[in-house]
Amino acid sequence: MKEFTLGRVIPLVEVSAADSAERGFHAPDVMTAELPLRDTHRRPLRDLRISVTDRCNFRCVYCMPKEVFGKDYVFLPRRELLSFEEIERVARVFVGLGVQKIRLTGGEPLLRRDLEYLVELLATLRTPRGEAVELTLTTNGSLLSRKAQSLRDAGLKRITVSLDSIDEAVFQRMNGVGFPAALVLEGIDAALRVGLAPVKVNMVVKRGVNEMQILPMARHFRGTGVEVRFIEFMDVGSSNGWNMESVLPSSEVVRAIDSEFPLVPSGREKPSDTSIRFHYADGQGKIGVISSVSQPFCGGCTRLRLSADGQLFTCLFASRGTDIRTPMRNGHTDEALRQLVVDLWMRRADRYSEQRGESSVTHDQSKVEMSFIGG
Ligand code: SAM
Ligand code: SF4
Ligand code: SF4
Repeated sequence: MKEFTLGRVIPLVEVSAADSAERGFHAPDVMTAELPLRDTHRRPLRDLRISVTDRCNFRCVYCMPKEVFGKDYVFLPRRELLSFEEIERVARVFVGLGVQKIRLTGGEPLLRRDLEYLVELLATLRTPRGEAVELTLTTNGSLLSRKAQSLRDAGLKRITVSLDSIDEAVFQRMNGVGFPAALVLEGIDAALRVGLAPVKVNMVVKRGVNEMQILPMARHFRGTGVEVRFIEFMDVGSSNGWNMESVLPSSEVVRAIDSEFPLVPSGREKPSDTSIRFHYADGQGKIGVISSVSQPFCGGCTRLRLSADGQLFTCLFASRGTDIRTPMRNGHTDEALRQLVVDLWMRRADRYSEQRGESSVTHDQSKVEMSFIGG
């Protein structure tokens, strides 16, 4: 495994065997004889990300640039969206097949009316071992100060809020609609107040755009219990004008923060985690880096995505999905839906990020947009 270099070398901490076993990466138990389901690279199916809408009130430059997602952009019509009952049914099938964690996302999930009802439905799901499913949500935070309490009451346990800068000018430019950072910060405070813990903050770092905000973000959230995760700008979708020069490798993020606040590496907490953690040496909390470009982590990828219109995607960089809505609306049984998922997962061979640099591998250029497939 590669290492981050900070002037001194910080080795990445390997995950212990006990941790792997706890995550169920070994021996299926009697309740789930054929589980965990494994793909062609022996990766289990553990995480389901559910996009509840392809719409968003932001136009982040790296996700839904306003030049592409303008007034004429055609979003999914309402009848195309899965109902909450349909989402719950699909989620139940997945949980029966080994999914332990569900993340609600989008587009902007808090734009979907009565989302709290879906949270209520999903909060009751239990794994075959009788454990509650880890339920979380990623939001741009714009409606969070109003919704934090009702989401908590509905059964949401924790939340991730995206915030790319605490500087107003930089943030308002990046979100494309001039939305104030101060209101997102209010949302984060509300989430902390109602006990949606831990609160995590996602910051996409784009070179030349907001890299000067790495230290201000670290300073702002250090010691607050909020973990900031610095994400490398990814080549998702086909419209964000991605190029390698705009990617600031996570090693540079770590080096910058370590120079002001010494960091101690703690690795991935679980093999399937997207982020590598570093603790502040003085005990003031931790940060994470998500290095999908400079240090791809396909080997531990246990994620499957369900789009708002009921398509299943086995990779964030896929061009095509598998329709589960049609069979569901045509009256297929749960067993038939289960079989569809089993077949899909067992065929899965995706490892896009690991192949990004390989000239021998060609990919379909029409990748689905992240706002559609769910971040
Ligand atoms: N609208 C919600 C939000 O922004 O949190 C949820 C959906 S958004 C697609 C999920 C996450 O994907 C956000 O944290 C966002 O910053 C991240 N994201 C979007 N486009 C990205 C890109 N090109 N590279 C890296 N992360 C990206
Ligand atoms: Fe909307 Fe989230 Fe994409 Fe920004 S990252 S445009 S908030 S979906
Ligand atoms: Fe998973 Fe695809 Fe991302 Fe690799 S590129 S980590 S397979 S979603």
